Formats: sequence, structure tokens, C-alpha cells
Amino acid sequence: MNPETVTIHEIVVLLLIIIINQKFKMKYLKIITLLVFVSTNLNAQNKTLLEKDNTAHNRYAIKNVNIIPMTKDNNVIENATIVIEDNKIASINSNVLPKDVKVIDGTGKWLIPGLIDMHVHTLAEGTPFIMYPTKGPLVSMKTQNIMTPYIANGVTTIFELSARPENIGQRNEIIRGGVIGPRIALAKVIGGKKSNLTASNPSDGRNAVRLAKEESYEFIKAYTWLNEETFKAVVDEAQKQNMKVVGHIPNAFEGKPAQDFFIPHFGLIAHAEELSKQTEDHSFEKAQEFARLAKENGTWLIPNLTNMVSIRKQAESLQNVKSLAGFKYVHPLMQSKWLTSNSYHGASDKLIAYYKKLIDFHILIVKAFKEAGVPMVAGTDAGISGIVSGFSLHGELKLLVEAGLTNNEALASATRLAAEWLEINDKIGTIEIGKFADIVMLDQNPLDDINNTRKISGVFVNGNWIDKNKLDTMLSDVEKWNNANKENYNWKELLNSLKN
Ligand SMILES: [Zn+2]
Repeated sequence: MNPETVTIHEIVVLLLIIIINQKFKMKYLKIITLLVFVSTNLNAQNKTLLEKDNTAHNRYAIKNVNIIPMTKDNNVIENATIVIEDNKIASINSNVLPKDVKVIDGTGKWLIPGLIDMHVHTLAEGTPFIMYPTKGPLVSMKTQNIMTPYIANGVTTIFELSARPENIGQRNEIIRGGVIGPRIALAKVIGGKKSNLTASNPSDGRNAVRLAKEESYEFIKAYTWLNEETFKAVVDEAQKQNMKVVGHIPNAFEGKPAQDFFIPHFGLIAHAEELSKQTEDHSFEKAQEFARLAKENGTWLIPNLTNMVSIRKQAESLQNVKSLAGFKYVHPLMQSKWLTSNSYHGASDKLIAYYKKLIDFHILIVKAFKEAGVPMVAGTDAGISGIVSGFSLHGELKLLVEAGLTNNEALASATRLAAEWLEINDKIGTIEIGKFADIVMLDQNPLDDINNTRKISGVFVNGNWIDKNKLDTMLSDVEKWNNANKENYNWKELLNSLKN
């Protein structure tokens, strides 16, 4: 839908309402009353349905478990009992357990809050071109298969940075309870070239923000192709609409002073690469300048170290794609694309050396931002070529630690801080009484070794306990489906079919 259609549609509706209102004032009032009644009733009905789904959960008590709450002081609570009731954390170390509670033995285990990947592009069904009215999507997929890799890796919240209506549909499926998946926050791209809102002047930029808001996206993602004035207008309008802005630094700023693109309310940079591509100067001093400006403007950073490391690996060899952790759980269409149409593969030695230089600079950026006290949140670009949903977040945590974060800081970037940026830290991000029960149970302490985040023995997803066996079954279901359907999803064939 383009902005004009919406405006015209709205005007027509408004005019109709005014005409009806004037001609049949009394009748109109009755209609309004009726409408309010019907919609209130529907709301009540929906609420009941949702409540039914959410309160069907049992009560759980995990005993003798070590809790890493990831609160600011993060005092580990050893040998604790934690009770989960419905979808919330009901108590920690209470003397009284509720009736009919299912006990989980947590001896020797460690609990952390459910992990948050702050930069994903989740595969959703869609059609690359307009087909005849009433025709469904060209490529369709099971939402559960797309979400299972997140859940099996303890990722219980994701930030979708190229949100489409299909992602809203996926979220609805999860909320209704038909699919076990993460919470999803949605950012609408403005300034992209394909299937996104485009804007080439400030007025279009502002309209695009308002349209995104009307379409119920919660965040704006500013993108590469915006010009300077439009970028600033988008950020300003988003602030007026009370929407936070994440994004790329537009190419228009390349070579310009960094204070031009660090502006208040540009709240979160989507990857360190956004900074490294602005300059030829890849020194620590330059990284410190970026960090100082970020601090002054309240701009946080998703280092997204995974992204460039992955690009370099794909450039070097496709074997690196085949051997990715979790590759067999990637949708077969994407397996085919990553292997047969990999745009990074075959890069020159010179380009590969340049990628290496960027990786080194990204590490300096993490060090400089840490030194300046700028909050960083973990994100991986999960879903794009060579980056496997769910699995990639553990890789990012490891890279963050290698770049100089402590294990505790890396964990905070994927829990408390991420929830804080999304402004849902009153609901998730730490293990505290009253918060949603999004919890990962680990076999070993991740504060000792960040690799221990991979040793998952179970996950609470919105109060639903999914133990290791169930997680393994869910993963093997995806693998079986992928193997059985591989033949039907060939990337090159799909592209060819579009030409006909
Ligand atoms: Zn991205």
C-alpha cells in the first residue's frame, strides 16, 4: 500500500462519517453505541481466548538451582528455589510452594534470563512480485520451523529489523499459542530500495514514519539510501511519534565529519560496520571519537561482530557455510541460496584482506565504546546469508568477550540492556519476581566461560517449560522436514521461474 492510497482512503472514510453524522445525527449515535458495544464484546472475547491459552500452563518450581539474575549488581543466588506460575516468575526462595507444582531438579544448573537477539531478519512467507488478486504467497513455510532454532538456543526475544506484515502474522501465531517462538519487536525500514518505505525528501520521510506507526510497527529503521536531510527528518518525526530509531548510517554521510550523523534520538546503530565504512581511518583514536559522540547523543551500538566475520568466512570458502552450527535447520530455500548464489563467495584476496581490517577495527570500536561507557546490545543479522538464527547469538557473545567484554557484560548485552533499549525491561531481561518467565537453564556457569551459554538443558518460553528432550525433538522435526522438502526449494530455479 502506498501513502497516497491510505490518505485517500482515510479522507473518504472521514467524509462519510461527517455526512452520516450531519444527516442522521441520532441514528449515527446509535450506530456508534452499537459499534462500541460490539467491539468491547469482541475485546472481552479475545481476552478470554488469550487468557485461556496463557493460563493453561502448569506451575513449576525449580529447586536447588543457581540463579544469575542479570540485574545491575547481578548477585548470583545459589541453591535457590524459583517458582513459575502461569507465565510469570512468582517467587524466589519463598517458604511456601503453591499446590500442584511440578518440581524440576536444578542441582548444579544455572539460570539466566531468556536471550535477546537485537538484529534479526527472520524468514517469512512472501511473494516477490504482484500476482493476481486472491493469490497467496509464492513461497510458504511453517512458522514453527523458522522459530525453533531461536527457542532451541534460548533466544526468547528477537528484534526484527526488516519488519513486514508477515512478521506481524508470525507474532500473532506465537501469541495465540499455535507456535512456540520468541517475543518479536518490529522495526520498519525507511529508505530501502525494495519492499520497504522509500523516501527521498524530508516530507516523504515524515510521512513514511507516520505510515509505519499506523501500520503498528513499534520502531523505525533508518536505512542506507536516505539523503542527509531526509535522514534527519525521519529521526525527528520518529521522536515526535514516540518511536525509537535503529539503523544504518546513510551512505550520504561518507567522508563527512562524524558529528553530522551522530544526532540525538538516532538511538541504536545496527552494526559496527556502519562506523567503519564512514572512514578510511581505522585507528583506536577514530573509534574513541565515535564512542565519545555516541555517548553525547545517547546512541547505543549493536556491534554485530558476527556479520563481518561471517562475510569473511563465506568469501574464503563455501565449506564454511556447510559447516555452520545449525546449518541443517536453515530453511532449504536459504540453504540453496547460501550455497549456490552466495554473493560473498569468490571475493579477491585484496577484498578478503580488507574484511580482516574491518574486523580488527570493529574490535577497537567495542573496546572504545566500553571505555566510554556506551551501552552495547547483542545482535547478529540472523537470517541473512551465512548467519543461522539462534545459533548465531552464542557466536556473537563469544566474539564480544574476545573483543574485551567480560562474560557478565556480554550476557547483559543479550539480556538486561537489550530489554532496556526496547523499553520492556519491566517485563523481561532479568530474573526477578513479576517478570515474564523467559528463562534458560544451563548445565554450566556462563560467568566462568561464555561458551557455556550453548549448554542448554531447558528453556522456559513465556512460562512454558521445554526440556532438552523436547528441544532436541523440535530441532529434529525441522531437520526431517528440511530433508524431505529439499528438492522443492531450489533458489536458482525459483529465480528462473520469476523470469517467465
Ligand atoms: Zn541487518
